[in-house]
Amino acid sequence: MSGMIGLVNFAKEPYSVELRDLPIPEIGAEDVLLKVQAAGICGSDLHQYTGKQSWPVNYPVVLGHEFAGVVAKTGRRVRSFKEGDRVVSETAAVLPADSAFIRQGLYNLEPKRLGFGYGVNGAMAPFLKVPARCLHHLPASLSLEKAALTEPCCVAYNAVCINSRLRPGDTVAIIGPGPIGLLCALMAKLSGAGHLLVIGIASDAKRLEAAKLIGAETTLGAQGEDVSEWVKNFGDNYGFDLVIDATGVSASLKLALDIVRPAGQITKVGWGPQPLNFSLDPLVQKAVTLQGSFSHNWPIWEKVIFLLASGKIDLEPILNRVSPLSGWREAFEEMHSAKIVKGVLKP
Ligand SMILES: [Zn+2]
Repeated sequence: MSGMIGLVNFAKEPYSVELRDLPIPEIGAEDVLLKVQAAGICGSDLHQYTGKQSWPVNYPVVLGHEFAGVVAKTGRRVRSFKEGDRVVSETAAVLPADSAFIRQGLYNLEPKRLGFGYGVNGAMAPFLKVPARCLHHLPASLSLEKAALTEPCCVAYNAVCINSRLRPGDTVAIIGPGPIGLLCALMAKLSGAGHLLVIGIASDAKRLEAAKLIGAETTLGAQGEDVSEWVKNFGDNYGFDLVIDATGVSASLKLALDIVRPAGQITKVGWGPQPLNFSLDPLVQKAVTLQGSFSHNWPIWEKVIFLLASGKIDLEPILNRVSPLSGWREAFEEMHSAKIVKGVLKP
């Protein structure tokens, strides 16, 4: 066997995605050949599908950076993994060897890193080449479909549990109930959040239902509610201790500034290329901490794998669809239209 069928993003033009015949990847001494069993669909895959991404893509490239699988073959210098091991993989596929950020353990922030699904071939294909340093072993109790969502869980863990200051009882507002926003809600709940508010728009009705299942005390936006007005009348009227901005729209930062409490924090994990076009004066006047959060690193992965395997994170409200790779278009469309929160493909 030498060929396979993978989902390829072949050009910048919208909807330049199709199934193509590909060779099975060759691996180097420090790589493994992974038999992909489950690949999560990320908002960023949808951005590349619609040609609206704000990062450079090495066309043509196989999509997918959230995945779990079984080791099919190991390079000759690989010691920690063997054929048949069940694994998940981090996303920093290519890193410059001399990166200062590797030494710091923050290789996720290395500007020259290349990730699966845009920089190098990703996981929406039966086989994938992965450097062994990216891999983590999986306990038998964790299904590969759920394990495929380790990556977005790590994004949320980094945003809420590492990059945010969140103490039990703190009020938390999350803007944007997409997969990352909802996983941030899960992490906030796990960290002992007090009142948890999740904010969406009219088309987010289904996702806001999922937010309720996760434990949000309040959801707003499905009926066009005035969120700022609601927050002015909430609790002691000062606003929320922590606001997580998980939308892909720059304008949502304005709402975040509006509803954050003086001396509170805004963590921005969603991104979009639009300019802001409003004043940041409230940031100064309220003495708010504005914190960016991007990706994740090794210790986060180990903790999230434990949380998933032990059932302390329940993905039931979020993982709504598992399809064969051939059903990719329907799954992409259902996620894009917010009919489902999150889909997983089985190449
Ligand atoms: Zn992702």
